Amino acid sequence: MPIDLDTPVKYIKGVGPRRASRLSRLGIHTVKDLILFPPRRYLDRSRLTPRLEAGEEAVVVGTVVSKGEEGNEQIVTLKIHTGEFLNLVWRKVPFVLRSFREGDRVIAAGRVYRYGGMWRILFPEYEFITDVSSSSMMGVIPVYPSTEGLKQGFIRGLIRDVLREVAPLVEREMEFLPAEIRKKRNIPSKLALLNMLHNPRTVKEGEVARQALAYEEMLFFFLNLFRFATYRKQKAPPIVKKGTLTDRFIEGLPFQLTGAQKRVIKEIEEDMARDTPMHRLLQGDVGSGKTIVSAYTALLAVENGYQAAIMAPTEILAEQLYMVIKEFTKDLPVNVELLISEMPTRQKASIRHGIKMGLVNIAIGTHALITEDVEFRNLGVAIIDEQHRFGVGQRARLLQKGRELTPHFLVMTATPIPRTLALTIYGDLDVSIIDEKPHKGKVITRWVQERDRGKVYQWLFQKVREGKQAYVVAPLVEQSEKLEVKAVSEVYDYLNKIKPTGISIGLVHGRMKREERQEIMQKFRRGEIHILVATTVIEVGIDVPNATIMVIEHAERFGLSQLHQLRGRIMRSRETAYCILLTPPEYKLSEEAKVRLQAMVEYSDGFKLSEIDLKLRGPGELLGKRQHGLTQFRFADLTSAEHRKIIVSARKDAKALLSRPGVLEIPEIRRGLKFYHPEESIAVG
Ligand code: ADP
Ligand code: MG
Repeated sequence: MPIDLDTPVKYIKGVGPRRASRLSRLGIHTVKDLILFPPRRYLDRSRLTPRLEAGEEAVVVGTVVSKGEEGNEQIVTLKIHTGEFLNLVWRKVPFVLRSFREGDRVIAAGRVYRYGGMWRILFPEYEFITDVSSSSMMGVIPVYPSTEGLKQGFIRGLIRDVLREVAPLVEREMEFLPAEIRKKRNIPSKLALLNMLHNPRTVKEGEVARQALAYEEMLFFFLNLFRFATYRKQKAPPIVKKGTLTDRFIEGLPFQLTGAQKRVIKEIEEDMARDTPMHRLLQGDVGSGKTIVSAYTALLAVENGYQAAIMAPTEILAEQLYMVIKEFTKDLPVNVELLISEMPTRQKASIRHGIKMGLVNIAIGTHALITEDVEFRNLGVAIIDEQHRFGVGQRARLLQKGRELTPHFLVMTATPIPRTLALTIYGDLDVSIIDEKPHKGKVITRWVQERDRGKVYQWLFQKVREGKQAYVVAPLVEQSEKLEVKAVSEVYDYLNKIKPTGISIGLVHGRMKREERQEIMQKFRRGEIHILVATTVIEVGIDVPNATIMVIEHAERFGLSQLHQLRGRIMRSRETAYCILLTPPEYKLSEEAKVRLQAMVEYSDGFKLSEIDLKLRGPGELLGKRQHGLTQFRFADLTSAEHRKIIVSARKDAKALLSRPGVLEIPEIRRGLKFYHPEESIAVG
């Protein structure tokens, strides 16, 4: 039966239902999936390995000198081309020995190890040969992600055979890059690329093919993203710096802006002066001073007669933001109000009314600002703090708040996503980065095991006597706020039991009443509480410069970016900060946890840590799969520096393409969009 690109793999000769179900575990359902299945890496077997090295891949050729069994191992001993002896070893496959005879010439490959003074390869790949150059095992060998019950050789052979068979179809139906792009980026035809991918002459050739395929994939990712980004065609109120509020605001600050803050403010001013909406992501590590930027942006709108909305992900953070911005603007003629759902109904109603009438200049809140029916009189700019917790849908809804004109839009995030990853995820946003921090205070991070908990807290009490304040973060309990409250209360009780007199300890968690929580936070801010025991509610936004010490209980339960966010709370002054990560003994920790803890000890730079985090967890996890629907890419590897350059080129090319009319009608592009984004293609027709 002839096959086409959409034929299910079970109908391919030699596959059948069992292997088909195994292939489906690798995400391979159809012929198309099969030929687009990228190798994990390549083995360079273009020549025999000149010197064996333990733990490394090797390819050897040799003569069988003996065979036999030892325990459950079947062993064939070869004298190989280096002059050494090497054992080919299998476990519990007695029949394997039958096919070997003394004097046979064998080529074998796999990872070599030293064992009992001998080289060995466990479960080798092998072939009987007469002549090395004719062996199908020589050359550059793709290694595919594998699954139980599917041999590498099988996948390899299958892909090659199928690719040969459907080659004419690939040429006819799978060329997605217009000739001009291929010429510009020096990319061969799709068929050539797939042949290079699965059957390269050199390792380099395979990698080049994969990069070109990643480029194609990302180009269509961006084309799809941008073709829906209609805001670029919408009208926004041009907002031009007047200085009546902004200049006074800057003059009134007790410090100079950092260079990075100035640069970012300039970028924002340029964006807002246009009559198309700003659509910008502001990235800055914790403590980089984003709040000032948001206040400035809001005031820019207000001095032009427009309103500003600032949203935070939680009520606590909204309150915090409100207090800070209120303080910053206390000498200016602006009306700043907080609107959160926890407030008394009457008060809420009156603030809502004020927003509608334009009496409120800057409204601060949670997503209540968009989900509840808040009406603005003339919203000029919408600012979202800590964006990664908001979904794209919420973003869109916020933008509808501006009536005839679309408000300018600024998203701020403290999750230091590597820049190109940000370009991908927030591909429809322009990106500004604050890469400089106002405070140059050091942080010393120590990873301490629980048996020294007593010592840690004695040291902490001593520091408190010297005038310092501290956070103690309770263990993270996933999915259960109730257990979390229990955990935090236990830590609180423990500290109260062992504390010396004169030291005051407070407790905050998400289940407390707002007034109660606020009161404790205020006391902590005023220095009346020395040690604040808290759940991760303090993760972002809380700002008490004198609190320079943090102890994190069961630090192994936290993710890397979360630990970094937490630690950011104590890096708010020029003083040296101390962060203690308490964990169970090392042997109880996972490898990944150890890498995280060690990274925290070594690095305080958020971008560095986010790179490590990205490698540990992959991009989907890093950003929380739920929120952004990050596509799993087939070829593009967001953790690879090389690929990130490709992503940037693809983004640029997609933008340039879309700036020309009729591009979506180019046959290759149409085909590509339909292939990569079938749902959207149906929706738009
Ligand atoms: P982020 O929101 O980026 O984590 P914040 O805006 O809360 O950071 O700023 C952290 C701290 O640094 C705050 O106490 C803020 O007042 C202070 N700060 C901001 N900009 C500067 C600056 N240019 N010089 C000194 N301190 C600054
Ligand atoms: Mg902040």
